[in-house]
Amino acid sequence: MTLKAAYDPDNIFARILRGEIPSVKIWEDEHVLAFMDVFPQSEGHVLLISKTSTARNLLEVEADTLARLTEATRRTARAVDRALNPEGFQIMQLNGDAGGQTVFHLHVHIIPRWADRPMKGHGHAPMADTETLRGLADRIAAALD
Ligand code: 5GP
Repeated sequence: MTLKAAYDPDNIFARILRGEIPSVKIWEDEHVLAFMDVFPQSEGHVLLISKTSTARNLLEVEADTLARLTEATRRTARAVDRALNPEGFQIMQLNGDAGGQTVFHLHVHIIPRWADRPMKGHGHAPMADTETLRGLADRIAAALD
């Protein structure tokens, strides 16, 4: 999808928000949902989405939505750090097909990194099992401010 297409209300994250397909949630409030990426590029790969905005990418997002998403990313990254003790982490946010984006509801990735563990390629990671993701999500949730 190009940068300038219409929002698809049936994209995967919209369906997760409506409870039509399951997800492993870490935390949520009225504005933001943090949940586990089901094809994790590293252990503890987290996604954050707005629950209210239909922005598909950074070009479309409202300033207040972006501010909330950014603060949610900071808060969740601190919890990932406490829970999983990575040596580093990447914040990733992709825009448009050509930018590598595959789900067209704006989202931020937190990808924990360890020097001796190679990161799996975007779109090439195997699906994780729900129990493993639930365990990681519970550890991250327990470490939230
Ligand atoms: P993008 O490529 O748009 O930046 O990232 C979309 C992300 O959503 C990918 O990392 C992909 O693994 C993840 N993903 C795709 N389908 C699902 C799903 O059904 N559930 C969850 N939790 N993540 C998904």
